[in-house]
Amino acid sequence: MSKVPFLDLRITDADERAELLAAVETVFDHGRFINGPEVAELERQVAARCQRPYAVGCNSGTDALILALRCLGLGPGDEVILPAMSWIATCNAVALTGATPVFADIRDDLTIDPASVRSLLTPATKALLPVHYTGKIADIHTLLAIAAEHGLELVEDAAQAFGATWQGRPAGSFGRFGCFSMNPMKVFAGLGEAGMVVCGSDDDRRRLEVLRYNGMVDREVCIQTSSNGRLDTLQAALLLKRLARVDTIIARRREIAQRYNAALSGMVETPREVPGQRDVCYVYAIRTPHRDALRDWLESQAIEAKVRDPYLMPDQPAYRDGVRGEFPNARRLVGTLLCLPAHEKMHDGEVDQVIDAVLRFFASEAR
Ligand SMILES: *Cc1c(COP(=O)(O)O)cnc(C)c1O
Repeated sequence: MSKVPFLDLRITDADERAELLAAVETVFDHGRFINGPEVAELERQVAARCQRPYAVGCNSGTDALILALRCLGLGPGDEVILPAMSWIATCNAVALTGATPVFADIRDDLTIDPASVRSLLTPATKALLPVHYTGKIADIHTLLAIAAEHGLELVEDAAQAFGATWQGRPAGSFGRFGCFSMNPMKVFAGLGEAGMVVCGSDDDRRRLEVLRYNGMVDREVCIQTSSNGRLDTLQAALLLKRLARVDTIIARRREIAQRYNAALSGMVETPREVPGQRDVCYVYAIRTPHRDALRDWLESQAIEAKVRDPYLMPDQPAYRDGVRGEFPNARRLVGTLLCLPAHEKMHDGEVDQVIDAVLRFFASEAR
């Protein structure tokens, strides 16, 4: 029985390897390792795909969030509402601005619940930070309406959702800022740390560029305290090659998800796409009360399934004191989620191997 890994990050395709190596050599030849032409070209292409005028490359998705939130001028006393369930970077980025993260509940699709957001609004609320969790766009129009009604900013944590759409519009096109990660695990993945912020105004673009380089204007005058977090030219060159393949990757992931849905939906809760939603399947997360037993069983069958974000962010030691708000649905769901391997390199035989193992688990559960 061959092992089915959760992800396979190796570069195994000979054509892709040659293409990536050639891209590296091009950068070796021109020698502009910072702010090289590949960075500008990647920013241009990502902005176009996100239907935004501007994109600003940076070190990581975490950095992208920090840069965007810092542009809002947040500080102590301000509140930002975010979902209780996400990768911890979402919360860290808020806290690093000095603002207070306020945790909202999630819906069964694991994205932030607008009703919960409404219940948490106070005069201190400055921004909403929805996460397009697992690669699905949150209930963005309702959230935008809340933001407009209350004069709030909206920033999209689209780290998991590059290429996802809602009624044809892409992730990152809705908020004042859209923040992406291109770390190797993401669907649009680099070969190291990388991130990008997209935005709609030239002022915001300029602010982001100042913040990502020590608060400097024209490398001479420092107008704001900040750190250095630019995107390397080498990474941008590799990402340009990866971008050309991302639609194929998304299509394959969606195919795998559909195969799982068809076979498993009677047995476990499978992810659902509502009309208008196009999920990029960053992870394929099922829900079952037998989560831990199923994971152990799959492991015994040489299948690597994973629990992602096993703790809600407000339960983390760094944040659990002084949490305001309740998130009963997030609490109910967090212990039931299991991510099955669903990466684009899996072939149908492996997908069937996973399906077969899950079905055998539930057949023996029933006995
Ligand atoms: C990956 C991720 C980030 C952070 O991205 P990095 O590039 O790893 O810093 C932020 N938010 C979410 C939801 C993520 O999944």
